[in-house]
Amino acid sequence: MERTLIAELGQKIDQTVKISGWLHVLRDQKSMQFLILRDRTGLAQVAHWKKGNPALAEQISTLGTESALTCIGKVVANKSVKLGELEIQLEQLVVENAAETPLPFELQNETLPNVDFRMDWRYLDLRRAEPQLIFDVQTTLEMAAREYWLQHDFVEIHSPKIMGTPSESGAELFEMTYFERKAYLAQSPQFYKQMGMAAGFERVFEVGPVFRADPSFTSRHMTEFTGLDFEMSWIENHHDVMDFIEGWLQYIYQQVKVKHGDRIQEQLGLEITVPTLPFPRIPMLEAIEIVRSMGYELPVEKTKDLDPGGERTIAQYVKEKFGHDFVFITDWPIEARPFYHMRMPDNPKLTRSFDLLANGLEICTGAQREHRYEVLMAQALSLGLDPAAMSFYMDFFRYGCPPHGGMGMGLSRLLMVLLGLPNIREAVYLFRGPNRLHP
Ligand code: ATP
Repeated sequence: MERTLIAELGQKIDQTVKISGWLHVLRDQKSMQFLILRDRTGLAQVAHWKKGNPALAEQISTLGTESALTCIGKVVANKSVKLGELEIQLEQLVVENAAETPLPFELQNETLPNVDFRMDWRYLDLRRAEPQLIFDVQTTLEMAAREYWLQHDFVEIHSPKIMGTPSESGAELFEMTYFERKAYLAQSPQFYKQMGMAAGFERVFEVGPVFRADPSFTSRHMTEFTGLDFEMSWIENHHDVMDFIEGWLQYIYQQVKVKHGDRIQEQLGLEITVPTLPFPRIPMLEAIEIVRSMGYELPVEKTKDLDPGGERTIAQYVKEKFGHDFVFITDWPIEARPFYHMRMPDNPKLTRSFDLLANGLEICTGAQREHRYEVLMAQALSLGLDPAAMSFYMDFFRYGCPPHGGMGMGLSRLLMVLLGLPNIREAVYLFRGPNRLHP
């Protein structure tokens, strides 16, 4: 017999069906047993009259919640049943895999154990309705991101994650043994995205893993995350990249709202607001002044960029002044940016760069890149870097590389912001941090 999904039961009244799923709740009463079964489409009530089959009744009464079950029975309409006004009269039960009792934690309880404990039992944690929604949304988000890129002639690339040279600075770098040599895990696809520009692809994107040996314990950092990256050629400056990001994000929000808006409202109590264009853009030095004028005390060393508290303060300003959840902080001083960011022609102390904050959280970094070989060489040298150690990268700019720029964004950071999640651990399938390598 073919499996029927719970959402389809309404069309099967008076028919015998087979449904499969997890035992969500067992109500073991005096003469009746009610098994609430859950599959990916919903919940259904399966009823069993104990006297009809005492042996089966005994088996059911020992079942632990979350056991994986298959039930065969007749679907009958019953107005008093809250779940779809129907129930299945159980004829046959197959215990596919019994759940041990007790469970490490009760999945359906109002209060849950802390996130770190739940991470130990992530496969059980993920059975809850909220994570199921989060990963449905993530799937739509990635689909929409790809659709928008494809509508704009982007080419998808997959760049190597094992590298002979660090892809960003020497900080946060995972080293590994590579046969007789040393190698590094990619801290970003930066160099290889830019190679796509030198290769004449004009527009590339990549969705792939990014590694950061960041020892910090925050609610927004992981040692491995999925990056959404793109790079585009023939731009005039970094504003072209920001223009693109705005349209791309607006499309993603629209798609998520259309597909999941009601469920997000129902389960998370959150209304998805599709952002209006353009997003406010504030140069970094101005942002520092604004934050100070609002009475926020930046740490003394923060003269060229903002700390997380400063980011939240500028977000508050933007919300009050422009009613917007997003803000680009632009034109960062060179001290706070890598050597490959292009500098302003009229002010070489500033770069053609930006970060995007969403509700005060940094979700993306981008810039126009320096594509002129001599200028790039001079910038690398001025920062004390050794261009010979990354000659493969410098070579990209020797034989006709167009002006270009792009950005990198953490998938889970975007999901956090989209769904108002307080901790990145809730927004990732499996978390990796300094203390976590399992499961
Ligand atoms: P932060 O200041 O938050 O540490 P960063 O400046 O190091 O971030 P970038 O190197 O600019 O980040 O990386 C681009 C994007 O990748 C960030 O805007 C963020 O969305 C994401 N990202 C960076 N580091 C992490 C991390 N450790 N865990 C999850 N996402 C990250």
